[in-house]
Amino acid sequence: MSTPSFHPPQRTLMGPGPSDVNPRILEAMSRPTIGHLDPAFVDMMEQMKSLLQYAFKTENPLTLPVSAPGSAGMETCFVNLVEPGDTVIVCINGVFGNRMVENVQRCGATAVTVNDAWGDAVDPAKLEDALKQHPEASVVAFVHAETSTGALSDARQLVELAHKYDCLTIVDAVTSLGGVELQVDAWDIDAIYSGTQKCLSCTPGLSPVSFSERATQRIQKRTHTVQSWFMDLNLVMGYWGKGAKRAYHHTAPINSLYALHESLVILQEEGIENSWARHALNHQALKAGIEALGMGFIVEEQSRLPQLNAVTLPEGADDATVRGILLNDYNLEIGAGLGDLAGKIWRIGLMGYASRKTNVLFCLGALDEVLNATGAKVTSGKAVAAAQAVYAAS
Ligand SMILES: *Cc1c(COP(=O)(O)O)cnc(C)c1O
Repeated sequence: MSTPSFHPPQRTLMGPGPSDVNPRILEAMSRPTIGHLDPAFVDMMEQMKSLLQYAFKTENPLTLPVSAPGSAGMETCFVNLVEPGDTVIVCINGVFGNRMVENVQRCGATAVTVNDAWGDAVDPAKLEDALKQHPEASVVAFVHAETSTGALSDARQLVELAHKYDCLTIVDAVTSLGGVELQVDAWDIDAIYSGTQKCLSCTPGLSPVSFSERATQRIQKRTHTVQSWFMDLNLVMGYWGKGAKRAYHHTAPINSLYALHESLVILQEEGIENSWARHALNHQALKAGIEALGMGFIVEEQSRLPQLNAVTLPEGADDATVRGILLNDYNLEIGAGLGDLAGKIWRIGLMGYASRKTNVLFCLGALDEVLNATGAKVTSGKAVAAAQAVYAAS
């Protein structure tokens, strides 16, 4: 008895991530594996750093990809910047804020939470109240783009407030990087992490991070050793830092790094501002189609993420049935709602390579047919044309 090779189906990925991977990236991944201290590889690592600085809009020297998914980037930020006994203010407006609280507690620190309803942006006034009530706080953490709800928060304003009260900032940019405006230096962000499988359209498994001078100093002045050996940046820098004396820390995921390199080359070729504009346009087209069907969004227009569209289920639609037909008959994946929003919303991702006209039209056409066929209350036959009209006017 032999086990056959695994051949996954060919899907269109329009959920909360992973997003469609550009074929150029899959090709880059299949190039020959070389040693992680090979001079040719080291050259690639230097390029990777500048490409990441380009994507983050930063000149921070401490900018590198952590060899694990977005959650490990999150943990890298917390374990390096938070010490036992510290107080950290965490803004929660969805799933990932809660994950931040877990990180704070596992660092032996106290988390003070600022809570906003799921679907709302983080309220700066509430953050300021918490900062006034907790002068002992040393770090403020929040999610720029909440993938669980599709809400965008005003990162620049939240960072400004944190600094006014002498706190460093940890920003989750897993879903925002490449999809909406993000300026690490101009907004003065101290520590930021992202992921490869959302708007960078790369394979999952790496987490780009960047730390400001202020954050780097905080790490160097720690009184407790970082409790995670793997994520201790003082050690990681021995491998990713500049200079001839690169030392072995762990075996880098060589071929995954080729993939990330290629995805950042693609981003640079397009121009990051053009990428933001493309995400905005495709969102407008999808929105026109969703509204033509008679469906709506849960997030207010001004804080809506173009790359993650949280749309309400129409009357008479069955969540699992519709997503099942989309997957089986159309090879199309869209995301379900999480927590209290389960069964009430779908999360339609237009991230990176998936953010394109053909996907918007395909998804609207499929939704129109499936909703109509399963007896949901929608206005059928107008969605695709409504999206086409947006493209025609652009
Ligand atoms: C996906 C995501 C994460 C976690 O990334 P993983 O790669 O799944 O570990 C964290 N934060 C946000 C906002 C995300 O969308």
